Amino acid sequence: MRAVDIIIKKREKGELSREEIKFFIEGFVSGEVPDYQASAFAMAVLLNGMTARETTDLTLSMAHSGQMLDLSDVVELAVDKHSSGGVGDKTSIAVLPIVAACGLPVGKMSGRGLGFSGGTLDKLESIPGYRVDLTTDEFKQQLKEKGIVLTGQSLELAPADGKLYALRDVTGTVQSIPLIASSIMCKKLAAGAQAILLDVKTGNGAFMETLDEARELAKLMVDIGKLAGREVIALLSDMNQPLGFAVGNSLEVIEAINTLKGEGPNDFREHCLHVCENLLVLGKRAQELSEGRALAEKAIKDGSALEKLRVLVQAQGGDVSFVNDTSKFPRAEHVEVAESPRDGYLAQIRARPVGEAAVTLGAGRAKKSDPVDHAVGFIIHHKVGDKIGKGEPLFTIHANDQAKMAKVREVVLAAHEFSDSPVERLPLFYE
Ligand code: URA
Repeated sequence: MRAVDIIIKKREKGELSREEIKFFIEGFVSGEVPDYQASAFAMAVLLNGMTARETTDLTLSMAHSGQMLDLSDVVELAVDKHSSGGVGDKTSIAVLPIVAACGLPVGKMSGRGLGFSGGTLDKLESIPGYRVDLTTDEFKQQLKEKGIVLTGQSLELAPADGKLYALRDVTGTVQSIPLIASSIMCKKLAAGAQAILLDVKTGNGAFMETLDEARELAKLMVDIGKLAGREVIALLSDMNQPLGFAVGNSLEVIEAINTLKGEGPNDFREHCLHVCENLLVLGKRAQELSEGRALAEKAIKDGSALEKLRVLVQAQGGDVSFVNDTSKFPRAEHVEVAESPRDGYLAQIRARPVGEAAVTLGAGRAKKSDPVDHAVGFIIHHKVGDKIGKGEPLFTIHANDQAKMAKVREVVLAAHEFSDSPVERLPLFYE
């Protein structure tokens, strides 16, 4: 077999056999298949697609490219969640402590920011000392002892995804349903999850802009998980406006902490509660969603969810005093409020330009090696459907570079669209 023949077959819209996919992925990880051939392969897949069978084989080959974790001696049922990525999506930072406080152990390997979408690891690193590089053994130990882990993907897990993802990021091959599905699911399978909740975002601030595309991606991932003997559910959630109000690393961590204190924005709290109730049913801690919701609400109310966050931060070397007193997070040098230019109803707060503007401020990276500025970002003060008067605060900019302030002010202002007549609120979930 030759890698070039496999690329040509896909270029000519052929269906690859399991052996061909396995040969290609094994060669890529060993270094026999160079990056330029893997990039050409990714482009051929993006342009010509893959059948569900090919995508499943690709997922399994990538999952088996490294260690396959077995958590059966660590927890009764290994539960995991994954979001397909969005703007203001700090869900894991609130949801994991809530479900762990309800008695469901959960260990998760998260990612860094990607393009306009933020990453849980970058957010958590705004807590001084917080380690996101646990080894597999540390992961297992902490899951067993504390019932909660939130770290980065270790080098031993699904290395094919680590390598291919880096290439996709810079070769225009991210937005492909088979490539996204295999990238997400290979990590979940390799990390030993037996029950998986997928939060698939749709809208202008998501990789899948239409509901049909998001549904197709969700269905494919659920089918792959089931074929691999895992229980999987997918929620289709809105990403046409930022989730919650905060966009930017430490601003989002503060919002997640506030939510655990019972004080966060309504949409974010509701989003988290829905994810929690589903996870609790999936993890067999609740029979029904309503029971799961009651447990999750109680964990917020009685402070046990916040306490679990403290346990998590402490276990991973972070400074717990930041959880107790969020004023300790470093504040950006320039904080300015942008006022509404007119009266009206908010018809749009486009998530993607808001995410891109946060990256411009330094909340994300333009190049892989760029450092992240944890303090910068936005507080968006409204949601689509809100009635607002001229001169009222529309959003607050947190910047460390005055020159960038004017630029992002224009961009985020233009992301807000007004209407003279009432506008319906956006749903949190579609399906
Ligand atoms: N998240 C991933 O892990 N992979 C993708 O390809 C997209 C989102």
